[in-house]
Amino acid sequence: MAKVILKNVDKIYDNKAHVIKDVSIEIADKEFLVLVGPSGCGKSTLLRMIAGLEEITSGEILIGEKVVNNFSPKDRDIAMVFQNYALYPHMNVYENMAFGLKMRKFAKDEIENRVNEAAEILGLTNYLEHKPKHLSGGQRQRVALGRAIVRKPQVFLFDEPLSNLDAKLRVHMRTEIGKLHNRLQTTMIYVTHDQIEAMTMGDRIAVLYDGIVQQHDTPLNLYNDPDNLFVAGFIGSPAMNFVEGKIENSQIVIENIKIDIGKKIQTDKVIIGIRPEYFTIDEQNPHFLAEIEVIEPMGNEIFLYFELAGEQIVARASASHPVKVGDKTPFRMDVQNIKLFDAKTEKRIRI
Ligand code: ADP
Repeated sequence: MAKVILKNVDKIYDNKAHVIKDVSIEIADKEFLVLVGPSGCGKSTLLRMIAGLEEITSGEILIGEKVVNNFSPKDRDIAMVFQNYALYPHMNVYENMAFGLKMRKFAKDEIENRVNEAAEILGLTNYLEHKPKHLSGGQRQRVALGRAIVRKPQVFLFDEPLSNLDAKLRVHMRTEIGKLHNRLQTTMIYVTHDQIEAMTMGDRIAVLYDGIVQQHDTPLNLYNDPDNLFVAGFIGSPAMNFVEGKIENSQIVIENIKIDIGKKIQTDKVIIGIRPEYFTIDEQNPHFLAEIEVIEPMGNEIFLYFELAGEQIVARASASHPVKVGDKTPFRMDVQNIKLFDAKTEKRIRI
């Protein structure tokens, strides 16, 4: 068990591609940290730097109390789980899980105890004799997890481990890994591009974009209190809606809509962000009327699509609402939950 500290970490490939920029994050002992961001933002590079598979250009990485910059991967006391499982096809499940321990010259009894214990945790006890090709995708992923667990590392590193699974299995394995974390009480760092995975699994999430940590916080704080436009748009599904507007005389102005915010703000052009759940259909006091273009039924609720200030907007409403495509519908926005962003810097303006 260990905390992991990244201090001003940079990665520059070949003296030109600056892909990790001054990243500083503290991951507490036993924490489940998710590194999330779109493809190419530097997540895998950062994880591989923690693992020791990639050199760091500058900065420091500490695991436990030790600076590990110059430690080889095998001396870092970490175990990594990859997307492509990387199982040995000619070995059965037992041998796959035991292999790393054998290489490290563990005693046979100890190997047997550890593999049996991991197999039990992962529901693989009846599959120990099976070869990988006779296993389902989910079972193979469990074997890959088992191989990491038997090592009893200080830190687990996961690189998009669920990406190859179908949607249903992914949801299932998400909870399995969550349970595993509760049981093992070990620090875990988990890379994904999937914000739902991040939101549901992480104690805290570091949102990475363009090699920079945009925000590092709990899932709910990222959702409710984003620091900038990128985080606001990346976290949440359907995504937060954005329209351009102005601030005039303590009012938000979106075309001919005016909304009092009761406070003067020294910014001219702003981007107004509002999540789909903060629109309500309100016949008495609407802020605007919009023609419904598309309705998506979700079962328990509906998503309503319409245009506002030239942008496509999505609002959530109760499935029982008798709204139809083409209806001119009166909407009100929940002013308390409107987020403002500076149109130039894209930074949040807190009101
Ligand atoms: P992610 O995991 O977020 O998809 P990566 O960490 O794989 O992103 O890559 C981050 C950036 O670094 C990308 O722009 C990628 O093209 C670049 N990159 C990755 N490996 C190398 C390399 N060996 N040489 C140069 N650029 C690389």
